[in-house]
Amino acid sequence: MDYDVIVVGARVAGSLVAALLGEAGHRVLLLDRSRFPSDTLSTHFFRAATFRALRQVGVYEEVQARAPHLTVNYNVVDGIAFPEAVDRPEDYPFYMCVRRITLDDILVRRARRTPFVELREAAKVTGLLKENDRIAGVAWVEPSGRGEAKARVVIGADGIRSYVAREVGARAEHEEPVHRAMYYAYFRGVVHVEGQGAEFHYRGNSLVYCFPCDDGLTLLASSVPITQFKEFKRDPEGMLLNELRSMSALAPRLVRAEREGEVRGSGSIPGYLRIPWGEGWALVGDAGMVMDPWSGQGIDQASTHAVILARRLQEYLGEKVDWKTAMRAYHLERNEFSYKTYHRTCAYAADLRPMTREALLRRGLI
Ligand SMILES: Cc1cc2nc3c(=O)[nH]c(=O)nc-3n(C[C@H](O)[C@H](O)[C@H](O)COP(=O)(O)OP(=O)(O)OC[C@H]3O[C@@H](n4cnc5c(N)ncnc54)[C@H](O)[C@@H]3O)c2cc1C
Repeated sequence: MDYDVIVVGARVAGSLVAALLGEAGHRVLLLDRSRFPSDTLSTHFFRAATFRALRQVGVYEEVQARAPHLTVNYNVVDGIAFPEAVDRPEDYPFYMCVRRITLDDILVRRARRTPFVELREAAKVTGLLKENDRIAGVAWVEPSGRGEAKARVVIGADGIRSYVAREVGARAEHEEPVHRAMYYAYFRGVVHVEGQGAEFHYRGNSLVYCFPCDDGLTLLASSVPITQFKEFKRDPEGMLLNELRSMSALAPRLVRAEREGEVRGSGSIPGYLRIPWGEGWALVGDAGMVMDPWSGQGIDQASTHAVILARRLQEYLGEKVDWKTAMRAYHLERNEFSYKTYHRTCAYAADLRPMTREALLRRGLI
């Protein structure tokens, strides 16, 4: 075997798995078709689950120093504001919003400097090698030519359009249609609420986020029902501005805001929970589970799944358990961690109003 593990995709899930396995002395080949630092289509709001994973690979300090700690959960529902201090969990009572160009670069650099990890950038995986009905390696193309390598395990950490998942025919245990579209951009000059607030502005079934992030920028994002996608696609800038200005508690603070960079977005994010393993392969992060981004949970989920998978793979690679035992345990633990969040996100993606109404009722605000 050339490697113990080949990881396809080197962002949140892939770099974390590679760093954790390399640190444990396993030989890892980490491939990504991108070069780093580079951006990807994603807003990037995350919480304690991600902080814990970052701490495991020793980059928590580096990430937490890059952007404000958001210590106020600033919710506004149809004009009714109810800011609340973030006081849970005890170890990390705050949220953060760090652009993917920054976060992923820290993670990729961490993986690159791990003993036993070999990183190949601009290497697009185009084939899976099979031996005795088991996935046994990958083939790729890169600027200098073609490559092939074999390993005991191939991991698909290759995101929502996962090549690995497609090639192995990974089955879904739950699927949810597309319910929403999301568009976002970065701005300077936004006036923030007092304290460091992560702002969520709801108007009916529409949601606008306002998060201070790294480099002094503010992320402004809009999540709307999928029925509005056509209009957004025709005029992303105009529609994003309309949504931002329609939020009465936010609009006056945007008067001097200037956009930096383009408006980006998507109206094609469904929900799925895939069976994340088979003979010789495993899926992690978005390759194994995707939710509508309205709940901003993908990074917490991908990073936690990566930690779980790395732990279970170490048991297998260290010959403490067989493949099936290790992967069944990974599958179970992943689902235990994600089940509630996944189904809640899917359910409210269709309509946010039952959730916001319940939040107002609970606080005696209606
Ligand atoms: C609009 C939008 C907004 C979002 N907002 C948030 C948010 O606020 N908070 C949050 O937590 N999550 C958010 N998410 C979700 C979050 O982006 C994902 O959950 C997260 O990126 C998953 O990380 P990953 O490492 O699994 O996959 P990815 O980050 O998608 O990385 C996959 C990597 O695989 C590589 N790759 C793919 N195919 C190949 C191949 N054939 N060969 C080699 N490399 C390959 C890609 O180049 C990429 O670098 C959002 C997503 C979208 C689309």
